[in-house]
Amino acid sequence: MKGHCLCGAVTVTAESAKAPHPHADACHCSMCRRWSSGPFFATEAKDVQIEGKDAVTEYASSEWARRAFCKHCGTHLYYLFLQTQAYMLSAGLFQENADFAFTTEIYIDKKPDWYAFANPTKTMTEAEVLKAFGFAPDGN
Ligand SMILES: [Zn+2]
Ligand SMILES: [Zn+2]
Repeated sequence: MKGHCLCGAVTVTAESAKAPHPHADACHCSMCRRWSSGPFFATEAKDVQIEGKDAVTEYASSEWARRAFCKHCGTHLYYLFLQTQAYMLSAGLFQENADFAFTTEIYIDKKPDWYAFANPTKTMTEAEVLKAFGFAPDGN
């Protein structure tokens, strides 16, 4: 997969972690919605290479993750899990050469009522997500 930000200062090249069937999944949590003005669509990737790192600003959004954006145009680039160094790349970076399936919606219990996707997806609540990633329900 190869993509770039709106202004072109940052180029991202990566392999889909789910190749040969890459998917883009949506997170409805309050942080993603504030960050993106909507659910954050991301695709899990490996072998991530970033050109134009001078233009990348990382924001420590929690103790366990960082969110990155292009400092020139504001395009969201990735969500990075620090513990595993797993990159969730912004799906919008990849437009010419990525054929994503939309398979999963997480933090579905945090989705506001004023929108809903018609796609048949697997949905996970916050508690289910935290359990899947090994966090205790109390946020440990
Ligand atoms: Zn940019
Ligand atoms: Zn989120």
